[in-house]
Amino acid sequence: MRTLVVDLLGGLGDLVMVLPSVHALRDADPGGELVVLTHAPGAVLLERDPAVSAVRVSAPHAERAAVGSALADLAPDLVVTTTRFDGIGDLVDDDAAARGTRAVSNLWRSPPPDELVGERYQRILAAEGVIADRVRPPRVVLGDDERAAGRQATAALPDGTVLLVPAAGMAVKRWPAPRWVALARALRDAGRGVAAVGEDVDGVPTLPPTDLRGLAARVAAVGERGGVVVGGDTGPVRVAAAVGAPTVALFGPTLATRYGLEEGRDLQGFPGCPHRRPTAITEQVCWWDAGCPLSDAGPACLEDLPVAEVLTAVRAAAATAGAVIG
Ligand code: SF4
Repeated sequence: MRTLVVDLLGGLGDLVMVLPSVHALRDADPGGELVVLTHAPGAVLLERDPAVSAVRVSAPHAERAAVGSALADLAPDLVVTTTRFDGIGDLVDDDAAARGTRAVSNLWRSPPPDELVGERYQRILAAEGVIADRVRPPRVVLGDDERAAGRQATAALPDGTVLLVPAAGMAVKRWPAPRWVALARALRDAGRGVAAVGEDVDGVPTLPPTDLRGLAARVAAVGERGGVVVGGDTGPVRVAAAVGAPTVALFGPTLATRYGLEEGRDLQGFPGCPHRRPTAITEQVCWWDAGCPLSDAGPACLEDLPVAEVLTAVRAAAATAGAVIG
């Protein structure tokens, strides 16, 4: 059987959330062919994944054409798509109807606010009878050589290093910069190794730039040695969890019960915000420009996450990983 999985939602985290479904589809048809159509930034995450036979990449703003080409080239027996915009859902459905094949094209039907997106996908696919009824977490597959390179690149960091990931693709997801500084200082005062990814935090060492797979290997290596990754609701933090690193994820505008990580510790700021739209996130008033109607100083939900709470979660995560934080 030939299966096509389409994930063109655009975010790295979106692709990570569909990985458990990809792996379940492979397990349901171990001898078949499974092709994933996605965007370039995340596509590399699938490079060493034995579940994936091939990866097709869509250019930005050309998604519908890319789906049309994939359907024409592959004539898949089953299509699963997370993506419906620009008529993609109808395109997939019409193609399946015309050829008498299967399509699962609405993984967003009736989403409850308290079910994790990736798990929701899997339960819908199980209800459709195309995967087994077993929910699993995301996994990114790294090669032994990549893991070795990650260990080498982080060898100078002490065991139990806390890796700070302050950047976020959307301003509304950023924990305030002074909080990151205060967290770094509190960790250092406790005698912990601290490093940062992507941008400077109070002068702590910053991991040298690398590509996405290189970053995944480095965070995996930090996790192996009792380290913890701390960041917002972002793709890199999801990748960190998916390579096995203990994580602490800081949720503000998004609801952790829906967008949280399957593994690790999810902290929620201001859970009672009346403006949150967990099942229609792009319509949320603060979503696109980080304009919070409750605060002129930035997202009130992320302001609601104090350093002490994050520190406690980091300690708990590190204890789980076998390290001890003072
Ligand atoms: S309205 Fe403000 S407090 Fe509410 S989710 Fe948006 S940024 Fe957070």
